[in-house]
Amino acid sequence: SDIGSQKNRVVTEEEWLQKWAMGNTGFHKERGHPLLQKYLDVLLSGRNGLRIFFPLCGKAVEMKWLADMGHNVVGVEVSEQALKEFFAEHSLPYCEEPVPEISGAKKFQSTSGNISLYCCSIYDLSSSIVGKFDAVWDRGALVAVNPCDRQRYASLMITLMEKNSSYLLVTVSYDPNKHKGPPFYVPESEIKSLFG
Ligand code: SAH
Repeated sequence: SDIGSQKNRVVTEEEWLQKWAMGNTGFHKERGHPLLQKYLDVLLSGRNGLRIFFPLCGKAVEMKWLADMGHNVVGVEVSEQALKEFFAEHSLPYCEEPVPEISGAKKFQSTSGNISLYCCSIYDLSSSIVGKFDAVWDRGALVAVNPCDRQRYASLMITLMEKNSSYLLVTVSYDPNKHKGPPFYVPESEIKSLFG
């Protein structure tokens, strides 16, 4: 199949931390993603004060943007450096505390309380720890997940969603034989089978 070439590829947590340490973060968009602006109404559908989840959040500036609109943002990211850079680059004061349910994890919360970022693997989270969400912004997340972990990732995401939630997913279309990823190529047929 055309995704066969990427099926067994694995990027480890250490490699991600290394990317952050080396500044190999070309995926970060300083000015936010145009597709979030374009589909913002679809994500919010007129609702206020939503709980919005950012899986594999990096230091996405859209978190600040949605928080400023009055929503509550929760993110998860393995790189502590990314999270600290997020708060520093937006001059946001924050506090740091352990997460009792997850050994080694930390939660960074803006002093204003509306941005909570978990520093741990997304696979350590569950709805009993972070609750459920009204909206999800998935950019550089599903496509960054190792192909062998996609099913686990999608199943977890589904457990984190409220009944009437909306999920914006950004994927990248290209020939997977020409680039090893990430971002990985996730064909539309696979998205349908993962999320139904
Ligand atoms: N969504 C962000 C970042 C995309 S890059 C954006 O749009 O800019 C993918 C990010 O996922 C990296 O910052 C990497 O450190 C993080 N990551 C990779 N595996 C992870 C995991 N299992 N749990 C949490 N974060 C992870």
